[in-house]
Amino acid sequence: MTPAVEFRDVSVHFGRTTALAGLDLAVARGETLALLGPSGSGKSTALKALAGFVRPSSGRVFLAGQDVTDLPPHKRGLGVVVQSYALFPHMRVAANVAFGLNARRAPRAEVASRVAEVLDLVGMGAYARRYPRELSGGQQQRVALARALAIRPDVLLLDEPLSALDAALREDMIAELLRLRAELPDTTLVYVTHDQGEALALADRIAVMRDSRLVETGPCEQLYRRPADGFTASFLGAAN
Ligand code: ADP
Ligand code: MG
Repeated sequence: MTPAVEFRDVSVHFGRTTALAGLDLAVARGETLALLGPSGSGKSTALKALAGFVRPSSGRVFLAGQDVTDLPPHKRGLGVVVQSYALFPHMRVAANVAFGLNARRAPRAEVASRVAEVLDLVGMGAYARRYPRELSGGQQQRVALARALAIRPDVLLLDEPLSALDAALREDMIAELLRLRAELPDTTLVYVTHDQGEALALADRIAVMRDSRLVETGPCEQLYRRPADGFTASFLGAAN
């Protein structure tokens, strides 16, 4: 089957810095892949190349078999949640979530029902009339997730979505994301994290990154029990 997401030999250079070196990676439809690695290993750059926020210096990016390397972000139809992608402070929660739908000129009645649906999906149905500043960090993160889901993306990209949350909230959000996965079985998830626990809890498969390179890819269980690479073993393995 055609992968939902595919990187073919993608490199990204910023001046003399190599942020991503020759990434080859495919993600199947409906799969949750965790891109796991320490800070500075190139995870966010890979996600940005996929989302269209940075242009690969070489290589191509495909979505459902289509080469999207030259498409602007808004034409890729992805749901994206990154930390810097804050909510619009002057808009109520509902308007924030409706933003992408309105940009696509969806009919008003459809926008209203979709907004209600995705806010319910992330447990924020009661907060539609609030402003972002009236919400906790975790609640804002849920709204950001709802905003990404509103356009019903085939592929959802999450970059360290829990890193700003305290430990208890993080547990809640992991449970929430697992529930979401079960409710949206056809949605492909690419989940960037430096946290082994999150990757093991959420992903079907983990891709380990180090120094701008992909080190090893495999099912969680395999990477945890039988890592092929020494770095994977030290970073993630059962010996820890
Ligand atoms: P991660 O998300 O794994 O922490 P990044 O993809 O953000 O890593 O960064 C990978 C490398 O590329 C780092 O060395 C980082 O400093 C560098 N880098 C990332 N973005 C830029 C940029 N816009 N300009 C220059 N260097 C960058
Ligand atoms: Mg990052």
